[in-house]
Amino acid sequence: MLKTDQIEIRALAREFAAKEIRPHSSHWDEKRDLDSDIFVKIGELGFMGMCIPERYGGLDLDIETYLMVLEELAWGDASLALSVAIHNGPVATLLLNYGSEEQKDKYLPSLASGSVIGAFALSEVSAGSDPASIQTQAISRDDGNWILNGTKRWVTNGDRAGLIMVFAVTDGETNGNTYKSQGGKSVGVFLVERDSKGYCVTGRDVTMGLRASQTVSLDLQDIKLTPDCVLGDPNRGLHYAFQALNVGRLGVAAQSVGIAQEAFEHATQYALERHQFGQAIADFGAIQFKLADMASRIASSRSLIRTAAYTMESDSNGIDRSAYTVPAMSAMAKLTASENAVWVTDEAVQIFGGYGYMRDYPVEKLMRDAKGTEIYEGTNEIMRVVVAREILKHASGDL
Ligand SMILES: Cc1cc2nc3c(=O)[nH]c(=O)nc-3n(C[C@H](O)[C@H](O)[C@H](O)COP(=O)(O)OP(=O)(O)OC[C@H]3O[C@@H](n4cnc5c(N)ncnc54)[C@H](O)[C@@H]3O)c2cc1C
Repeated sequence: MLKTDQIEIRALAREFAAKEIRPHSSHWDEKRDLDSDIFVKIGELGFMGMCIPERYGGLDLDIETYLMVLEELAWGDASLALSVAIHNGPVATLLLNYGSEEQKDKYLPSLASGSVIGAFALSEVSAGSDPASIQTQAISRDDGNWILNGTKRWVTNGDRAGLIMVFAVTDGETNGNTYKSQGGKSVGVFLVERDSKGYCVTGRDVTMGLRASQTVSLDLQDIKLTPDCVLGDPNRGLHYAFQALNVGRLGVAAQSVGIAQEAFEHATQYALERHQFGQAIADFGAIQFKLADMASRIASSRSLIRTAAYTMESDSNGIDRSAYTVPAMSAMAKLTASENAVWVTDEAVQIFGGYGYMRDYPVEKLMRDAKGTEIYEGTNEIMRVVVAREILKHASGDL
């Protein structure tokens, strides 16, 4: 059962989304940008530091409540929710889990207030589903500093972020340093500030949906980084990435539910208002079944997200030991909720008929936004790979 403070926070998020986000959503989609003051307003509510401890200015929410807020923000606008999710999810989680005290003191308060926005730069032109194949390289020098070179692709928030977590190979032919792992490639995570010399946003993608979210390419040229820019162990970046993605994928699941819920509400209202054959289309069994299926899928996504959030909380306490591991559950939640969102938004367009296909009505945007959730933070094919791997590991006694 939800606790009183969870219900209050969710209500606050819903009210904020209704007043400050939803009215601007189609305009943001049109202009392909968010109003920059929206991050300030979200920061004032504490929603830029949802899981950051209070001593750094955050709200210190549990995962379940964080995901409920994210759903409400996505119900307001999916592009905004994506930006907020990358910032609160992978970026803040990695800093909290692996940052030194100095790094936490330096960055967490400004992330929590929203004065600095975070980005997560893992993907590259030839490295999406397979992050171990990244080419960006960080070379350590004798003076202890690092030199970062490479390019990154599809970086959400890349142009508005003040802090970018860049994943880079830390071994290789040329560096001759001590950061060589046994066997596989070593990857490190580097805290790069937006105004670093050599940081360049080279292009902004025109996306199908989530158009107001910045999806950019980066060119990183000879960026000089001091040792305090390295997050944790410079050999363990891939491990960190997968951990961050467990949280990130739950965030994508919550965004998917927000999008689907909005589409469902529009479709229900429209079905009551639209008349054909002398009656509301909501009177037709075919439409009622669509609404029933939409509601059922949304409810099932929400339940799975809550179970996954519970697994994450309990696993961090060392309780859960089954095939339903944190990676499996977060992959299942993302897979199910995103596919449900695509299905629900498609049905919403269908209920709107010809008007559903028009830009003037809200549901076509939701269908475009929903499609993205099947791709980012790991495609749904990769989600199935993760779930199957965890099941088989458990069945063969490896877990
Ligand atoms: C809107 C948006 C925002 C994004 N934001 C970020 C961000 O902030 N930071 C970041 O680092 N990245 C980001 N990405 C990148 C995203 O994570 C990648 O696009 C995604 O992981 C897929 O990689 P890819 O595009 O290279 O596809 P590929 O890996 O080339 O995959 C192509 C197809 O092959 C399938 N496939 C690949 N490998 C397998 C396999 N082993 N088994 C079965 N099927 C497979 C895939 O599922 C897909 O259908 C974003 C992408 C989008 C669209």
